[in-house]
Amino acid sequence: MKTPLPDYLVHVIDACDTDNSGRLADYIPELANANPNRLALALSTVDGEVYSVGDDEIEFTIQSMSKPFTYAYALQKLGIDAVLDKVGVEPSGEAFNQISLGNDRRPKNPMINSGAITTHSLISIKEGLQGAEILREFMSELAGRELRFDDAVYQSEVKTAYRNLSIGYMLRTVGILESDPVDIVNDYIRQCSILVTVKDLVRMGSVLANGGVDPKTGKRLLNRAVVRQVLSVMMSCGMYDAAGDWLTTVGIPAKSGVAGGILGVLPGQVSIAAFSPKLDEHGNSVRGIEILERLSRDMGLHLMEGTSSAQTIVQSHYLTGKNASLSVYVLRGVLKFTEAEMLLRTLQCEPVNKNTIVIDLSQISLIHDVGKRMFLEGIDRLIDDGHTLLLVDPEQRLDHARTHKDRILHVYQNLEDLIEKHKEL
Ligand code: GLN
Repeated sequence: MKTPLPDYLVHVIDACDTDNSGRLADYIPELANANPNRLALALSTVDGEVYSVGDDEIEFTIQSMSKPFTYAYALQKLGIDAVLDKVGVEPSGEAFNQISLGNDRRPKNPMINSGAITTHSLISIKEGLQGAEILREFMSELAGRELRFDDAVYQSEVKTAYRNLSIGYMLRTVGILESDPVDIVNDYIRQCSILVTVKDLVRMGSVLANGGVDPKTGKRLLNRAVVRQVLSVMMSCGMYDAAGDWLTTVGIPAKSGVAGGILGVLPGQVSIAAFSPKLDEHGNSVRGIEILERLSRDMGLHLMEGTSSAQTIVQSHYLTGKNASLSVYVLRGVLKFTEAEMLLRTLQCEPVNKNTIVIDLSQISLIHDVGKRMFLEGIDRLIDDGHTLLLVDPEQRLDHARTHKDRILHVYQNLEDLIEKHKEL
């Protein structure tokens, strides 16, 4: 059997291929030379499987889709508060290149140019490397390959960067930028000229979808709190003055770029990238929007559509041992608030003082902080009721198996060994 997913993706781009509306960005002269017919789509699952169709090998400049990654890098290096001191998180309702500040004299958010130039300025020069080069290396790590700059697009934008320079001078005037605005704006423009394909974008996005861990290498590249911050801002501000429309129709945190790319990231599920150079009046790819709208509708990807909880946590429960006095719970899935509440409600039915309770966590894929706290609290209460607790937790994810009352739990590598040892009970 061949998975039908690639055929489905081809079907989606074919359906959008007929729409020829929109215009190429021409305020960056080099972008006006792009082939307007290009069309590509890629999707990465949260475990790193990439599907792609159309012009998926064609490189184009990342432009504003670099902004969330610059923001992520700044948050990771400086901490959320230090970045918030300089850039807000409020949707502006304005065009991406509006020359504006919030009432508190900070740029309104990091997804519009004033905010993005500011976050760029926070990336301090390291070992003589400029911000754009540091960011190129960072994005290359996320993409899993060496990315490069498009010098022609860079030169072309630098020559006509009057608007971004105005923004830079305004930011310098109010003290948000602390050094020469021309250098910062030029280096920000270089950041925008990094070349990517839709396949690179979905790999970069899959790190965000996967809570900051690269699903291909298992390496943590960003903290969970940083990822949450970035995706929140993408959701509220990523599509500029079309953000509300996007939230209601597509409902996927996203960022677009004037070369025609759109990257959408649905936490815990997928990242999707589309590329088609013709833009609407907001500077977002016309066919890119159509593609994401369609995928969101067909695949039920709208963020508000439902919870990712599988609504099950206890895969099986049975009694075993000599006098059926081992009560075994095998758990499966993700242990967050919803599932922890369900589990504790089930454990509540254990009769006081009776069984030895065995809980097998080996098939739990993620234990969230709140899940761990609630679980350990439940364990203390079971012990208070007179139960003996035995755990199977080969990956030792329970803080050295100490409960809140500082009881040390018996932990086993696998369920079979545990049952074998205790079958005489
Ligand atoms: N380099 C472009 C600019 O600063 C990026 C804008 C965009 O992609 N929306 O104007």
